[in-house]
Amino acid sequence: MTVENFDYIALGGGSGGIASAARAAQNGAKVAIIEYQDLGGTCVNVGCVPKKAMWFAAQIAETLQLAGDYGFDISQNGFDWTTLINARDKYISNIHKFYDGYLDRLNITHINGYGRFENSNTITVDGKKYSAPHILVAPGGKPTYPAIPGAEYGIDSDGFFALKECPKTVTVVGSGYIAVELAGVLNGLGANVTLVIRKTTVLRSFDEMLSEQLVLSMERTGIKVVHETIPDKVHLNENGHPVLTTNHGEMPSTEALIWAIGRTPQTMDLNLAAAGLKTNARGYIETDKYQNTNVEGIYAVGDVTGAAQLTPVAIAAGRRLSSRLFDNQPDLHLDYSLIPTVVFSHPPIGTIGLTEAEAITEYGEGHTKVYTSGFTPMFSALTSHRQPVSIKLVTAGDNEKIVGLHIIGLGADEMLQGFSVAIKMGATKADFDNTIAIHPTSSEELVTMT
Ligand code: FAD
Ligand code: NDP
Repeated sequence: MTVENFDYIALGGGSGGIASAARAAQNGAKVAIIEYQDLGGTCVNVGCVPKKAMWFAAQIAETLQLAGDYGFDISQNGFDWTTLINARDKYISNIHKFYDGYLDRLNITHINGYGRFENSNTITVDGKKYSAPHILVAPGGKPTYPAIPGAEYGIDSDGFFALKECPKTVTVVGSGYIAVELAGVLNGLGANVTLVIRKTTVLRSFDEMLSEQLVLSMERTGIKVVHETIPDKVHLNENGHPVLTTNHGEMPSTEALIWAIGRTPQTMDLNLAAAGLKTNARGYIETDKYQNTNVEGIYAVGDVTGAAQLTPVAIAAGRRLSSRLFDNQPDLHLDYSLIPTVVFSHPPIGTIGLTEAEAITEYGEGHTKVYTSGFTPMFSALTSHRQPVSIKLVTAGDNEKIVGLHIIGLGADEMLQGFSVAIKMGATKADFDNTIAIHPTSSEELVTMT
């Protein structure tokens, strides 16, 4: 059988694979991307992009409710789910078209099919062999289902994006990014949402202030948060609706049940053993700081590594890897510290660095100083329904270096990026204080905290 040879093959055409392949091609490498679904991966097709479109829709719904307080005499005559989904999907199909042209312009070969390792430098797709001295493994992950009877009666985030209409009642199980984001969107668009969490709060690895404020906001806007509740089994009732039984007994049935309990790396069907590639106990491919796996010439980036599962992280790691390999920058690698992240909950959360508890553990109570502020932003102060903003700055040492910044409230999503530049550069509280505020904004609070 003939083998087609490349300088670089990316297994997976998602955020990490495409970014890394493009950087390699820009540096003159002969490159192939193997992808069995639509190009763009999770983020473009069933992640960040469709989620953000729906988040915007839920924000509009919220704003419409407040329009009367600003003097608008409007009546809402309905919301058409199909119009939103069509607009969202058209936007995504334009991204697909862009990718086709982009790969063509870079002379990247797109191999459409499912790849499996033949050996450490060869991948087989539909019986054809493709070889390269450098192979990137970037297959991402897929939603995790609980190992309980009837789990298949629930859907996952992919299923949520495929819904043909907005369910009137929904149970969302989970407490991470996806659970709180989907609960917020569905609630905003008119569904009656119950969020089932197995511990006492959501987003447990985030600063406590964020989790507490988010639960309060969710409850204030009508989401029912059910604590310390562990799914046991699911069955369908006579209407074909899922009924969840938990450690507290049977819950009321809802039209949809959504599992949002984490993601599993897609490494089980890649024939990794043929290449000598190892995974850890949870199926992730671990790498060193240069994205090298345990096999020379094979690298991994993105969700499959289990590190900071965010699109910009996969992109940044992939690009740096290719510049290292093909642009003679032997020490280039991604610094995984101080990664800013936004949760598109309602209201949104922006966060970077250490939580207050982590800072105390790392620097000691006497060397950690925290500044907090809670206020009603002007937009909301004029309305009957108040939406507070909460901010926390975590500083360490005598010079009060900023080691953590946590924001929840309207605008948090757009506030964080600029501040994260300053924090990455080592800003101190004095640097923040020396910056003139922009008035009237919510971000000005960040440079006027006492
Ligand atoms: P992916 O983008 O998942 O790409 C992997 C690709 O590999 C897939 O296209 C898959 O089909 C392909 N593949 C797998 N196995 C094979 C094989 N054997 N052969 C060929 N192809 C294969 N991140 C953010 O930064 N911001 C957000 O707002 C955000 N929202 C999200 C919302 C949801 C609902 C989800 C699920 C995720 C979200 N993420 C977000 C996370 C983000 O989508 C991922 O971190 C990112 O897509 C990871 O990129 P990746 O390249 O590692 O994998
Ligand atoms: P997460 O890891 O964020 O959260 C899943 C949570 O579900 C766990 O932390 C756990 O919380 C809970 N859980 C786990 N197992 C069970 C179970 N059997 N029953 C009930 N609850 C359970 O996963 P997500 O799926 O929400 O998201 C995956 C990743 O995708 C995120 O970590 C993030 O990196 C990325 N993402 C990023 C977004 C963004 O940037 N805005 C948006 C969406 C996803 P506990 O221990 O508290 O019960």
